[in-house]
Amino acid sequence: MHPRTTGPRTTSDVLVVGGGIIGLVTAWRATQRGLRVAVVDPEPGGGAARVAAGMLAAVTELHYGEETLLGLNLLSACRYPDFVAELQEAAGGADVGYRACGTLAVALDADDRAHLRELHALQQRSGLESEWLTGRECRRLEPMLAPGVRGGLRVDGDHQVDPRRLAAALVAACERSGVLVHRTGAERLVVAGDRAAGVVLEDGTELAAGQVVLAAGSLSGRLGGVPAEAVAPVRPVKGQVLRLSVPRAYAPFLSRTVRAVVRGSQVYLVPRENGELVVGATSEELGWDTTVTAGGVYELLRDAHELVPGITELPLTETRAGLRPGSPDNAPLLGPTVLPGLHLATGHYRNGVLLTPVTGDVMATVLTTGELPEEARAFTPARFRSPSPSTSSSLSPAGVS
Ligand SMILES: Cc1cc2nc3c(=O)[nH]c(=O)nc-3n(C[C@H](O)[C@H](O)[C@H](O)COP(=O)(O)OP(=O)(O)OC[C@H]3O[C@@H](n4cnc5c(N)ncnc54)[C@H](O)[C@@H]3O)c2cc1C
Repeated sequence: MHPRTTGPRTTSDVLVVGGGIIGLVTAWRATQRGLRVAVVDPEPGGGAARVAAGMLAAVTELHYGEETLLGLNLLSACRYPDFVAELQEAAGGADVGYRACGTLAVALDADDRAHLRELHALQQRSGLESEWLTGRECRRLEPMLAPGVRGGLRVDGDHQVDPRRLAAALVAACERSGVLVHRTGAERLVVAGDRAAGVVLEDGTELAAGQVVLAAGSLSGRLGGVPAEAVAPVRPVKGQVLRLSVPRAYAPFLSRTVRAVVRGSQVYLVPRENGELVVGATSEELGWDTTVTAGGVYELLRDAHELVPGITELPLTETRAGLRPGSPDNAPLLGPTVLPGLHLATGHYRNGVLLTPVTGDVMATVLTTGELPEEARAFTPARFRSPSPSTSSSLSPAGVS
């Protein structure tokens, strides 16, 4: 049953449902373009960014069949330095922990080496910069690597940022630039005259808006009142992550992100300047479960230990699980839906931190001009629409008809 609705409390040009990094960057960039913007989230600045490692890994995360996404990833990576400088200033001098440290992807056995050689060939065909190194050369760069490392790829352009600090800076930048942040959940979308007109909050208050952006991460498909044809096709993909701490006496433990595929599973170690070492991540299709399991922790430590044996000496400071918003093609959903006034900014899956700068720019353009910029056309939600034409008058709320 819906809570009692009280009349519209405030009206904004844009109302963003979800204050994770994607909703926040959308709100911040839209307000910079002169729009009056509100964000609704019980915990703005939380979400998957609380768990994420923050690798900006356009090159090392390249996968077969994802060449279109590669273009967007590279564009966002390119914009990162300027984005960080502008955000830090807008947030009153906050430091988001951007580190231009590069990445080393290594192989531990013959199978891993063959896999990495394939990746290298794909990177070269795609015109990307990466250099093949022998095991000895890898260990010269990172002396803590296991002696058995068989070779690796040096990617000097894949950097990192601290997603928690990034999210906190985005909250501050939003509030300082006049975005109204409502610390509560949205219950359902309000549709009036065949267009999105606002949301009803959990306490029954209605917020009116000219346009609504659904940026609720893995929960983006669950907002009530959204017509079935406009529901975001996103699913949660669980990831467990560990945080260790490198005592000053051990520094520098690693100087760049180190990663590998061990027995078919990805493992990475991301060293922050403040001594934190992030070890991730599992990838599990388990619905909304965010339990940290003994098995998950064991596998991460086992694989990370094979890569960098010295990690077992380090204090384990945190274990966490989060949900990546996965889309059917692993690429984001950006821009207008079939319901006029309703936009999506979700489905960023394992690249949401990397894609934050470009998503903010793309969404601000859509919200001010109604058009997706060239670089984002391939990411329209319309790519998942069934071929049969549907008219707005046939729109019915999800789960109702
Ligand atoms: C283990 C792990 C490791 C990762 N590593 C990396 C990495 O190294 N590099 C990288 O680029 N990306 C990485 N990611 C992915 C990245 O974290 C996500 O893609 C990104 O954080 C998604 O941001 P979002 O704002 O779309 O969603 P979320 O972070 O999920 O935020 C959604 C927000 O919406 C709010 N919300 C939900 N429903 C409602 C509602 N009804 N009303 C109001 N608010 C609502 C939630 O409270 C939440 O704050 C990783 C993710 C995980 C889980």
